[in-house]
Amino acid sequence: MSSFTCRKWNEIYDRLYEVYGDCSCPLRHESPFQLLAAVMLSAQCRDERVNQVTEKLFAVAPDAKSMAKLSAGEIADMIHTCGLFDAKSRNLRAAARMIVEEFHGEVPRTMEELTRLPGIGRKSANVLLGNAFGTPGFPVDTHVNRLLNRLGAMCDDDPVRIESAACAKIAPEKWCNFSHLLIQHGRQICRARKPECAKCVLATLCKKHGVKA
Ligand code: SF4
Repeated sequence: MSSFTCRKWNEIYDRLYEVYGDCSCPLRHESPFQLLAAVMLSAQCRDERVNQVTEKLFAVAPDAKSMAKLSAGEIADMIHTCGLFDAKSRNLRAAARMIVEEFHGEVPRTMEELTRLPGIGRKSANVLLGNAFGTPGFPVDTHVNRLLNRLGAMCDDDPVRIESAACAKIAPEKWCNFSHLLIQHGRQICRARKPECAKCVLATLCKKHGVKA
């Protein structure tokens, strides 16, 4: 159990906000369905690559209806550079079909419904809630997990418990941006290898300041 107080959690937010401000989702999209597709493709793939792939994919299939008409093979041909393309193409087609058949072509807006879609887990659903629907959502990815554990805010790497702890300490309207801020900091400063503690605005709050990992 971490001894991090509510004040300390909010101090993390404030210090990161000073550096990165209001962040937006780096995955390019023009609709909730496009964000859903981009999030699916982003598993173990860099955002820049996903954006290159979706530019071509969305020119052919910009919405659930048109995506559902493609075969998994046709989708795989367009997304193969994202990796894991077999599973991703099958899930994307199946999710598009379910959206058409069960949700009248519109991406559903609740955690329960989103996580029924093939290939959509809790993290992806939170990305959708926070970035497509303006509903509070706190996606926990590998950067969020690593950073909160290094700081000492968490002593637990279970994503659901991390989400629950963060959401209990931070105001709902900040959840989505808090996740973006932690991801930015995890990519730029508190990297998995060779974190730059000397440049870190969170250093005085951090249990692992100076870690060499
Ligand atoms: S002080 Fe170092 S380990 Fe702690 S959050 Fe900053 S970069 Fe990460």
